[in-house]
Amino acid sequence: MNPYRDRVTGEMKTAFIYTDAYLDYDYGPTHPLRIARLKLTYDLIKAYGLLDLPSVQLLPTLKAEEKDLAVFHSEEYLNILKQANEGHFTGDAYLYGLGPGDNPVFPGLLDWSLLTTGATLQAIDFVASGKGKVAFNIAGGLHHAMRSRASGFCYINDPVIGIMKLLSRGKRVVYIDIDAHHGDGVQKAFYGSNRVLTISLHETGCSLFPGTGFEYEIGEGEGEGYAVNFPFPPHTDDEIYVWAFEEVVPELIHVFQPDIVVTQLGVDTFYDDPLTSLDLTILGYERVLKRIKGLAPKWVALGGGGYNISNVARAWTLAWAIMNGVELKEELPGSFLKEAMKMGIEERELRGRPKTPPRGENKGNRAEMERVVHYIKETVFPKVKR
Ligand SMILES: [Zn+2]
Repeated sequence: MNPYRDRVTGEMKTAFIYTDAYLDYDYGPTHPLRIARLKLTYDLIKAYGLLDLPSVQLLPTLKAEEKDLAVFHSEEYLNILKQANEGHFTGDAYLYGLGPGDNPVFPGLLDWSLLTTGATLQAIDFVASGKGKVAFNIAGGLHHAMRSRASGFCYINDPVIGIMKLLSRGKRVVYIDIDAHHGDGVQKAFYGSNRVLTISLHETGCSLFPGTGFEYEIGEGEGEGYAVNFPFPPHTDDEIYVWAFEEVVPELIHVFQPDIVVTQLGVDTFYDDPLTSLDLTILGYERVLKRIKGLAPKWVALGGGGYNISNVARAWTLAWAIMNGVELKEELPGSFLKEAMKMGIEERELRGRPKTPPRGENKGNRAEMERVVHYIKETVFPKVKR
């Protein structure tokens, strides 16, 4: 036994949290959020051998306890979720954002939320207690849920609950949300705090749910300057997105000096996502993730949106490879392709062959984001401190 080597590998350990029990739940046949995408991602990660690396621990998801949810969510809302969990839809549920549409009532919806939140708490514990440097919960990142309201496919806000756990351990946190939708629930929970710096990059609220996340939302009270928003216009491409990220995020992390970076890694920014209008490709996504890996002292990664399931599986597999410092061959493993074809997936390569998105609108988009970046530098940079 070589103690020095142990110390090095201990530092490099990573955790992937997953269970097939996710597949017991279903938002319904016409709902865009397909839980099967989690299994598909797990299958691709496994097929590439990324769970067999000596540094990797595969942790089976453990359900959170109801008391874990109560640190953020109200008692009356949790009671409504308990009723909904049995598949009962009461008239009151409407008042809490539940009902046909985005946030359907389905049997076991609270159990589903206890799993997604439990996995986030496992990821938080793994990293915060020093067992390893990186943990990934692909089922988490349900960033729209509010204290007493379901919103945008999210019932329980696992990023908020996880970050609250880190705060209770005295940690300073940077939250980076690269989902196409504004991370409104997380921003709101920490809007008055200077111990959590929330940074959300998303399609502008002028064209996309939830209609918030403008650059002038910068926090309040002690938290003024500790909320940062990039509202990208529709058809923003990789170049503009990565440029804006580089202009702002590294500097803020350098100044704030977080103990841990928590990220929401939604994949609904891609040009071929059916719900949104940004024009990113997996190549831009990869550049941002590599940058986050270099910037984060410790990293808790959560999933998020993504409604083209081929994109989800390939992008989160690439993300997990980056987290582990591994290069993957471009050709998708044969064992995965068989399963993927049954689900209508045609891509045979990890990064696929991203088509060049139409660039006609990007001159105006560049000017708009130069204005936003300038605004952030003028208003936020002077306020953020260690
Ligand atoms: Zn989203």
